[in-house]
Amino acid sequence: MPLVNLRTVLDHAAANHYGVAAFNVNNMEQIQAIMEAANETESPVIVQASRGARSYSQDNYLRHLMLAAVELYPHIPVVMHQDHGNSPKTCISAMENGFTSVMMDGSLLEDAKTPADYDYNVKVTQEVVKLAHAKGVSVEGEIGTLGSLEHKEPSAAPKAAEPHDADLEQEPEPEGAMSHLTDPEEAERFVADTKVDALAVAIGTSHGAYKFTRKPDGDILAMNVIEEIHRRLPNTHLVMHGSSSVPQELQDEIRKYGGKMNQTWGVPVEEIQRGIKHGVRKINVDTDNRMAMTGAIRKVFSLTPDKFDPRDYLKPAREAMKKVCIDRMVAFGQAGHARKIKV
Ligand SMILES: [Zn+2]
Repeated sequence: MPLVNLRTVLDHAAANHYGVAAFNVNNMEQIQAIMEAANETESPVIVQASRGARSYSQDNYLRHLMLAAVELYPHIPVVMHQDHGNSPKTCISAMENGFTSVMMDGSLLEDAKTPADYDYNVKVTQEVVKLAHAKGVSVEGEIGTLGSLEHKEPSAAPKAAEPHDADLEQEPEPEGAMSHLTDPEEAERFVADTKVDALAVAIGTSHGAYKFTRKPDGDILAMNVIEEIHRRLPNTHLVMHGSSSVPQELQDEIRKYGGKMNQTWGVPVEEIQRGIKHGVRKINVDTDNRMAMTGAIRKVFSLTPDKFDPRDYLKPAREAMKKVCIDRMVAFGQAGHARKIKV
């Protein structure tokens, strides 16, 4: 089966009350990990690439890796999604490279850090929807500004956890900037104005490993906002960004083999499951996979410092990521649905 668009998968997810993880990729091993996990669990798949990932892997490599994925697993519906497109231009180049879904993040200006106003967001999103829908490509928009609701001590997030160079997987969150929670009334207006297929909402999650300084409760993770948006927009597919769970065992593994990571908390899987009951259909997960791979590689380097064949550490890294993917696919309910989606 060729790559399918996001709408096809999320409509099925909504009709059958499940959520679908969207995993970020930069290279072959990550794509293989996701596809092996999907094959074992019979899950539909959303693979996404940020601008940073596209520039790291190069569009041609990425396109052909994704074509290899659908060729190897013809029974699995696979969506190729542009994560955080910063301009219509970025979304257009994604479509030219075979992406079947694009996010136009007009909540920020083209620099991907300055918050934009509502009219700008509607204008650029409408432009992308018009172009994309003409090609059968789906569009995710965003309303509100992602970021933490906590007043964190500056030391809570060590510099090592900051986004590296221009890699925008970790969306820039200007220092000291506070999250602007999605206003449900504005969300309703935005969907009517733009006709997006999916809507990213801000509920206090942030990108990267340092999301919360304690296990999140309703004060810092506003799941009630999702419930209110879903009440107003029962037919819109909601998207949770920054939704890695940052499991304790992955933190411990990295520390055990010499990595430096301060204690941190992510989004508990049970909170995501609560979201799925209230319209969340796409759940973005990147950090957990990065951590799993890093822990596995550190372990090989630490226990067998004589190894130098990249396969000796990339294979366990791929296995570790696959395990995280399987866990999420089962927890979000997408497992078992791959063959039921009719394209
Ligand atoms: Zn995001």
